[in-house]
Amino acid sequence: MKIAVFSAKPYDRQFLAQVNQKYGHELKFLDAGLDAQTAGLASGFEAVCVFVNDRLDRETIQILSSQGVKLIALRCAGYNNVDLEAAAELGLAVVRVPAYSPHAVAEHAIALILTLNRKIHRAYYRVREGNFALNGLLGFDLHGRTVGIVGTGKIGRLTGQILHGFGCRILAYDLNPNQEFAEQFGEYVSLEDLLAQSDIISLHCPLTEDNYHLINTAAISQMKPGVMLINTSRGGLIDTKAVIRGLKSQQIGYLGLDVYEQEGKLFFEDLSGEIIQDDDFERLLTFPNVIITGHQAFFTAEALNNIAETTLSNITAIALNQPCETLVNA
Ligand code: NAD
Repeated sequence: MKIAVFSAKPYDRQFLAQVNQKYGHELKFLDAGLDAQTAGLASGFEAVCVFVNDRLDRETIQILSSQGVKLIALRCAGYNNVDLEAAAELGLAVVRVPAYSPHAVAEHAIALILTLNRKIHRAYYRVREGNFALNGLLGFDLHGRTVGIVGTGKIGRLTGQILHGFGCRILAYDLNPNQEFAEQFGEYVSLEDLLAQSDIISLHCPLTEDNYHLINTAAISQMKPGVMLINTSRGGLIDTKAVIRGLKSQQIGYLGLDVYEQEGKLFFEDLSGEIIQDDDFERLLTFPNVIITGHQAFFTAEALNNIAETTLSNITAIALNQPCETLVNA
């Protein structure tokens, strides 16, 4: 197939080109992200390959369809950025990579927890400046703490399993509880109980219409004062303004984000020479107890290899009219 690969970074090119040696598709790598303004670049291609911040709204999909594009191949798990109804109406198949390395994301959530708790981000700079004072670096034992996992799919279960290994008590909330997880690692409770009892809350559910701003002012007020909140899932799960208020009042004691509601305008680009216009994002960066990474939780060699493999095998299956397990829309 002829595929226009949007938002193609050097690492995407490297892994996709390498794995494509065995698939033999025609890949055109484009720096541009995909939206209605750039959809014209897909003219003459049968498929587009896209990532988390490409915007496949109805208008974009209509332009793609009018140019003969038949397939949207997401090289990520989440598909909240695709208007599935429009894609189905216009006959475009949507495929995704449901799992590439749940370990990568779970381990990143743990990295955020440990860094925030033991203040490694602050200690790193202190020691380099010859400041060996420990004031302000006090942490707490993870052992014996209660951790709430919201969403116990592949990533949430692994995160719970790792933290169980640290000696944490694991509480879980999911619309579809997992019996095996409950037997081995944690106890399912209501969301209210999870919010009220957890010292650390880690979000691992997908962003849907029903859980937009799941963590809002009301939810924050139910949490333990000084709670640690971790989000490696999707930015829209958190009401940023409410979280800023929670940090200012110290109801939230620590915040670790790998995703951000308005990340589409920021992440994956080098903006170090520019003036960032997002005041909420800039406010978050002023807190000493906030760590933000730019959607890098997935970013391991194993994950990139798996993403390339699944994406190209998805495209091959659709090209050959074979069943494709990762098809999102019928
Ligand atoms: P998964 O599909 O295996 O699990 C998701 C779980 O969430 C399911 O058990 C589902 O029942 C549950 N769920 C759905 N809606 C819920 C709700 N409203 N409340 C509670 N639980 C709910 O997904 P996964 O592979 O574990 O990934 C989880 C999320 O992580 C993805 O949706 C994606 O947004 C995010 N993600 C982030 C990165 C990153 O680099 N930061 C990488 C991959 C995935």
